Amino acid sequence: MRKFKEVLSWSLVILLFATLTGCPGVEQTTDADEGVANVRRTIILQYTRQGRLTPAVRERLMALTTSDELQDYAKQQDEAYLDQLPIDGRLCMEMLNEVVRIGPRWSGSVGMLKQQQILDKHFSNLGGKVEYQRFRVRNPISKQGVETVDMANMIIRWHPQRTRRILLCAHYDTRPFPDNDPDPGKRRGVFVGANDGGSGVAVLCALAEKMEEFESEFGVDMVLFDGEELVYNSSRDPFFLGSTHFAREYAATSQRQKYVAGILLDMVADADLQIYQEVNSRRMAPRVVQQVWATAKRIGVPELRPSARHEVRDDHLPLNEIAKIPTIDLIDFDYPSPQKRETYWHTTEDTVDKCSAISMAHVGWVVWEWLKGLK
Ligand SMILES: [Zn+2]
Repeated sequence: MRKFKEVLSWSLVILLFATLTGCPGVEQTTDADEGVANVRRTIILQYTRQGRLTPAVRERLMALTTSDELQDYAKQQDEAYLDQLPIDGRLCMEMLNEVVRIGPRWSGSVGMLKQQQILDKHFSNLGGKVEYQRFRVRNPISKQGVETVDMANMIIRWHPQRTRRILLCAHYDTRPFPDNDPDPGKRRGVFVGANDGGSGVAVLCALAEKMEEFESEFGVDMVLFDGEELVYNSSRDPFFLGSTHFAREYAATSQRQKYVAGILLDMVADADLQIYQEVNSRRMAPRVVQQVWATAKRIGVPELRPSARHEVRDDHLPLNEIAKIPTIDLIDFDYPSPQKRETYWHTTEDTVDKCSAISMAHVGWVVWEWLKGLK
């Protein structure tokens, strides 16, 4: 996707300030004490962001006196918390690791083929009906002698007999190179796309476990778009090849089955998850934005922040503009954090260690609750 512009948001600055000033340990003097205080502060900040800092947990964190104790306690808490969540965060992480381990997965690559095999097996085992929407595009770097690239959107249908349907989607190709890396020497290196390319896929893999039991008048199609960024040169090469093809096909055929709404998942695994309302989504699919954020508020997932921050050009544009499917982009564009100037986006730093099982489970949980509440 491409960042278009940023809308200033101060709510996070206020939250951060409140959290830090509310956190003892700042007065400590020795290096060791300072280190412990930092570990404690980081855990408290993270738990606050994730909406799970109970008074009991806070009290326990204040009582622990070494970094090891604090980290062990946090690990135990994380594991226990993951057990309670309705979406399996460990499965998200497993699938994320599995696709990232393949390496680069750009359109037409051997890595993409391997990924399709892994995902095909995963979704089929859970009862999904897997189809491929195949098409061909001009290779942006045809000078290499390869004129075209074979593309495939992967479509996984659940309850295919239901005529009113929901679209849950993500791109599953990775950018050919980490061309935004701060080190110019790495910009033609390896890009594995954990958060950008892997995370949406991973969340859909975990949501798939819920699909057979999904009792509703709505059916669900999960669509993994190819060619979101078969881009070597941002000012020359077209984006959104897969979603544009999908949207055109949908608009061109008279449909017995109709999509009533859609959610696009992109960059949803960041350990420091903060998802603001994306500006184009608010403009083109305001009802879905309102429903999804109300759901997050109801179940207590504060990582979905109720204000706008970024305007992003992503796969949801062709879905809204060509297919007329009201679709929002759930995206955390501040990777790792709005408080930091650096970004891992399109760099060699976009790796699984920056991602979190809880973040992915939280996003999946919001989507699942939203689905269940649809009327
Ligand atoms: Zn990208």
